[in-house]
Amino acid sequence: MSELLRSLKGDCDTLGCWIGDLPRGCELCMEGAKSVIFVTGVCPERCWYCPLSRSRKGRDVTYVNEVLARDIKDVVTEVAANLSRGAGITGGDPIARLDRAIEIIRALKDAFGQDFHIHLYTTGYLLTEEGMRELVRAGLDEIRIHITGEHSYRALAIAAKSGIDVGVENPAIPGTEKELLNAIRKATEIGAGFVNLNELEFSEGNEASLILRGYRTENGVAAVGSRETALRVMAAVMEEGIDISVHYCPARYKDAVQYRRRLARRAVATRMPYEEIEGSLVKWAEIDADEEISKRLVVGGLAFICGGRVVTSDTLAKRLGLRHTLVKAYPLSPRKIIETREEQS
Ligand code: SF4
Repeated sequence: MSELLRSLKGDCDTLGCWIGDLPRGCELCMEGAKSVIFVTGVCPERCWYCPLSRSRKGRDVTYVNEVLARDIKDVVTEVAANLSRGAGITGGDPIARLDRAIEIIRALKDAFGQDFHIHLYTTGYLLTEEGMRELVRAGLDEIRIHITGEHSYRALAIAAKSGIDVGVENPAIPGTEKELLNAIRKATEIGAGFVNLNELEFSEGNEASLILRGYRTENGVAAVGSRETALRVMAAVMEEGIDISVHYCPARYKDAVQYRRRLARRAVATRMPYEEIEGSLVKWAEIDADEEISKRLVVGGLAFICGGRVVTSDTLAKRLGLRHTLVKAYPLSPRKIIETREEQS
């Protein structure tokens, strides 16, 4: 197996590795250029490994990345704020709220143009031929079927006739090599062009269920054995010469790389005049100066009054030799402060 695996593209320990071509949706995700649109927490399935948190599971709420969206304008605004060039439509099952998913796809294509890439995840339980036609008409570029039963293959067959990119996306549950390989054979026959195998993740929503079934984690994120299962399946696909692209997506680097890249883009788009960008964070200085100096800076447009505090850039505060508190935050709305430090200039 090791020789076969040496021919993989990418890096299995960082961003992921693959055989064949990487799906377009994954390329953009790796760059941090995709927003995740959680259409609804409603889902007709009951997967024991479902990662959804209690605040989302079964609840008919819409989020864009980590922001609650009250309406379609919120969706478009948040996608713009992340400088995204594409979006993944997920849930729950977006098909459980098909009209909303279609409205979102249409609005994103209208706002950002036809090149804005949109993919959608579903198990296909509720997917009909008419629903698929409507999704494609709205502008959907790619659909990923999470195989949970025979209904998923029926959905795959519907999707394969639609003319858009069609793939399969499932978690690599440790020890399920045989099942995954059978699913890949079947999906290839039906017409799927790619398979994504996600490293099985521990989350607040599935932790108890995973532990109950004997799975464990060493790093607090990924299930032990999931990576090996995915790589064994990829080796078998190569050995058999199955004509399909397969991509392994590691859980542990999602936060370290993809999430931080998306935040770095959000920092660029939403930076306030007094903020500076440091990687995926923004930072600023809260000045501790007398009233006279503060007033001069504000009047001169070099500092701003924000939330009752006088703020400026960390660089300017240092150059002026002002005592200040350095604040570092994730560039979310509102800013999520992660560090404050007294700076004695
Ligand atoms: S299909 Fe997805 S959202 Fe629905 S129960 Fe399964 S893992 Fe959870």
